[in-house]
Amino acid sequence: MLCKICKSKGKKEKAVISIRHHKLALCKEHFLEWFKKQTLKTIKQFSMFGKEETIGVAVSGGKDSLSLWQLLTECGFKTVGIHIALGIDKNDYSKKSLELCSRLSERINRPLIVFDMKREIGYTIEEIAKLSGRKDVCSVCGTFKRYLINKIAVNEKMAAVATGHNLDDESAVLLSNTMRWDTGYLARQYPVLEEKEGFAKKVKPFCFFTEKEIVSYAILKEIEFMETGCPNAGSATSPVYKQALAFLEHKMPGTKLRFYREFLKKGRPAFEKETKEEYNLAPCRTCGMPTTAGVCSVCRILEKVRGVNAKSGKN
Ligand code: SF4
Ligand code: ZN
Ligand code: ZN
Repeated sequence: MLCKICKSKGKKEKAVISIRHHKLALCKEHFLEWFKKQTLKTIKQFSMFGKEETIGVAVSGGKDSLSLWQLLTECGFKTVGIHIALGIDKNDYSKKSLELCSRLSERINRPLIVFDMKREIGYTIEEIAKLSGRKDVCSVCGTFKRYLINKIAVNEKMAAVATGHNLDDESAVLLSNTMRWDTGYLARQYPVLEEKEGFAKKVKPFCFFTEKEIVSYAILKEIEFMETGCPNAGSATSPVYKQALAFLEHKMPGTKLRFYREFLKKGRPAFEKETKEEYNLAPCRTCGMPTTAGVCSVCRILEKVRGVNAKSGKN
């Protein structure tokens, strides 16, 4: 297959990727150009951030977040990486993840803020889940990561936090929310969440790219990333929705992008009034971060963990 753009200029260059839903086959140079242009278009379309602002990029060590950090930096944005070291020992997962984030930080010459849970809180994420009696380590992990990344961004006065969520993630979440007609979540699913009383602005510049496009970018840019997922990933339900969408995409190329884009255009406005409900946010009595519950969920979990440990005489 030949690159479509090169072909239009009378050149015969081999394509490195075929993007079926855009009916595009592109060589390395034109794919990288297309990828950059599309990202800048998304940033502009949703007024995500500007060149003068400091942007936190939440990096896990995976292809999505590291590619995002590389690209935003290359585009001239003032980026700072934020990594939460979870302390997951199996397969050296956390150690390797941190190593890869640090390596990219050095390569692009941008600072990396690391929050080490064991060192700063005293427990790894798995210890917290176990001691607080929660079976689903991923939901505890999600709560802590969101809380910590937000706290760092607010403390560091960052204009926004960018995450590497891609089209596969967003369309799977959309399908899952639609299956349950969870109107509250449907109303909030958007590439931008504006800053609000103690919550930093959150943005997803890669939300229209598939995993395949991002992994191609990472490989072509020679970014080293974690190729094996987190050992706890198996319990999540989203792979089922991803598989369902992959099947539809295979039969009807463009399904995922259409599903998500049309939702943003036509579906979401129908649920928007759900976000207008007044939440009574107030500072958490323990940590001062905003919550609707008096004491925030992270502090409540930690109280339980410390209580358990005090009873068993470990603390
Ligand atoms: Fe955390 Fe679960 Fe993701 Fe692992 S798979 S990083 S435990 S949310
Ligand atoms: Zn080309
Ligand atoms: Zn709190």
